[in-house]
Amino acid sequence: MRSEQVEYALALPMPSMGRTSLDDLARKMGREPSLVEERIEEMAGQRLIMATKSRKDGLVHLTGNAQQGPAVICNCCSCCCNALRGLIELHNPRSFVKTNFLPQFDHDKCRLCSTCKNICPMDAISMLPGVEADGTGAFMRVEETRCIGCGLCASHCPHNAVSMVKAYNNIPAQTLAECNERYMNGRLW
Ligand code: SF4
Ligand code: SF4
Repeated sequence: MRSEQVEYALALPMPSMGRTSLDDLARKMGREPSLVEERIEEMAGQRLIMATKSRKDGLVHLTGNAQQGPAVICNCCSCCCNALRGLIELHNPRSFVKTNFLPQFDHDKCRLCSTCKNICPMDAISMLPGVEADGTGAFMRVEETRCIGCGLCASHCPHNAVSMVKAYNNIPAQTLAECNERYMNGRLW
């Protein structure tokens, strides 16, 4: 039985080849199908390791988000990446990046360590000061118009106090061609 990675890779349209079967792909590559299958699994494993490491390093996974599958996954910082660097300058990055997810804070679990605030590439998180007489009652707050739903605050919180919740239902483009057309018309989603 084929692995999930191989099924997924074969379901994606290949550049200049479109959708293809394992046998066709192997023929074009001049390899045995079993070797091609092994290579796909090996590459999928390497990419998963790279994506996990990137997330740990505080990088944001960016992609051309089409329903038929992403073209690339780029791991970006907000200091050098063209896309993120531009977005961080805006007052409302979220209006350009139509993510469906927002972080939700569990204030009972939160220890106010500010890890989420420091890792957020969009400066979307702040700590509101406590209003009690003794200074307690401070809490973390996300400015939704700045949040691009990258999930770094959730994956980096040492106390599992942040979850990403589905808050909207924006439908991505069907194909990468449609994605590019939207982009050329000034939409990043
Ligand atoms: S990283 Fe977690 S515990 Fe620390 S301030 Fe953010 S939500 Fe609270
Ligand atoms: S998901 Fe979290 S880390 Fe990412 S932009 Fe939104 S608030 Fe910042």
